[in-house]
Amino acid sequence: MKILENVSLKEYNTFGIDKKAHFFIQAKEIQDIREAITWSRTQKLPLFVLGGGSNVLFTHDLEAVVLKVNIQGISISRESGEHVWLKAGAGVVWQDLVDHAIKKGWSGIENLSWIPGTVGASPMQNIGAYGVEIREVFDHLTAVNRETLQTETFDNEACCFGYRESIFKNHLKDKYIISYVVLKLNKQHHFNTSYGDVQKTLEELGYAPDIQSISEAVIRIRQKKLPDPKAIGNAGSFFKNPTLSQETFDRLKRRFPDIPGYTTANGVKIPAAWLIDQAGWKGKRFGQAGVHHRQPLVLVNFGAAEGKDILDLSKMIQEDISQKFGIHLEREVNVI
Ligand SMILES: Cc1cc2nc3c(=O)[nH]c(=O)nc-3n(C[C@H](O)[C@H](O)[C@H](O)COP(=O)(O)OP(=O)(O)OC[C@H]3O[C@@H](n4cnc5c(N)ncnc54)[C@H](O)[C@@H]3O)c2cc1C
Repeated sequence: MKILENVSLKEYNTFGIDKKAHFFIQAKEIQDIREAITWSRTQKLPLFVLGGGSNVLFTHDLEAVVLKVNIQGISISRESGEHVWLKAGAGVVWQDLVDHAIKKGWSGIENLSWIPGTVGASPMQNIGAYGVEIREVFDHLTAVNRETLQTETFDNEACCFGYRESIFKNHLKDKYIISYVVLKLNKQHHFNTSYGDVQKTLEELGYAPDIQSISEAVIRIRQKKLPDPKAIGNAGSFFKNPTLSQETFDRLKRRFPDIPGYTTANGVKIPAAWLIDQAGWKGKRFGQAGVHHRQPLVLVNFGAAEGKDILDLSKMIQEDISQKFGIHLEREVNVI
């Protein structure tokens, strides 16, 4: 286990924020995770777990041991006539797993194409896009208990998945380090093309829906809509889409007849992007931080922003939306 000191995290977060880790360790196997936990204890320093850094905003140097989980490997852990249980190391790049599944002809995660980050972080916030969430194909994960150093298994129910939520962001926050994830993918396909522009894009491309074409359509839409973190620092959607009671939504609809809303099991979901756009934030720039000109849900670093600049901007937006619409926008990005 190699321990590096005073490491810049600029290359390790998609916002491109230049903060330092006091110590930096890469874990290539479970034993490295255990050793890093033990070592951080001897240093009396907190341990911060990092995947691809695409859902974090660093606001200060980390007086901590930063552990980048880099466990690799994709393998079949079980197979039946209808399903395949695909196991991947936490450090596998999410898109590599998607590509693997597509190549093999297994469906279930094609709508989640082009989401940055690692497999290990994917259950953390129950990643979702284009009408699909990982919980729909999630079978179980293994994780190291940071207290006992034992490996434990969490099945789908134990993860308590919700919209951009899991138990690891709530009751078990900072208690486990995910090492492997197993997804139950389908050999018999049921496609979901009903969300957003997927169907329309397939038609434009002249493709019939299959795993490959859906993935291509999703990537095409995402590349059109979302800024590439390599070109301009960002962490995707900064806020979650708020869910309101039907009554609150009806009241807002009387004031703002154009407000879109989608009925879900928990209430009416409003696109946060619409609220931010209506409030006039789209394309606004404050020094090195700003709101993206095409996708107002995405806050961007024009190059030299500090994490605090982005955080301050997010707070201004939250306050404004609260005043204008009476809605609290919850952050999706993990502010560190
Ligand atoms: C351009 C862009 C588009 C995006 N689009 C989407 C989208 O469509 N849908 C969506 O859901 N998300 C989206 N995201 C957010 C992000 O890609 C996902 O949340 C992704 O799963 C984060 O993975 P990561 O490896 O980068 O995690 P990181 O940012 O490194 O970490 C995120 C959190 O998980 C913890 N963590 C990471 N790895 C582990 C582990 N092995 N064990 C325990 N804890 C861990 C970290 O401590 C941190 O709290 C987007 C981001 C970008 C930049």
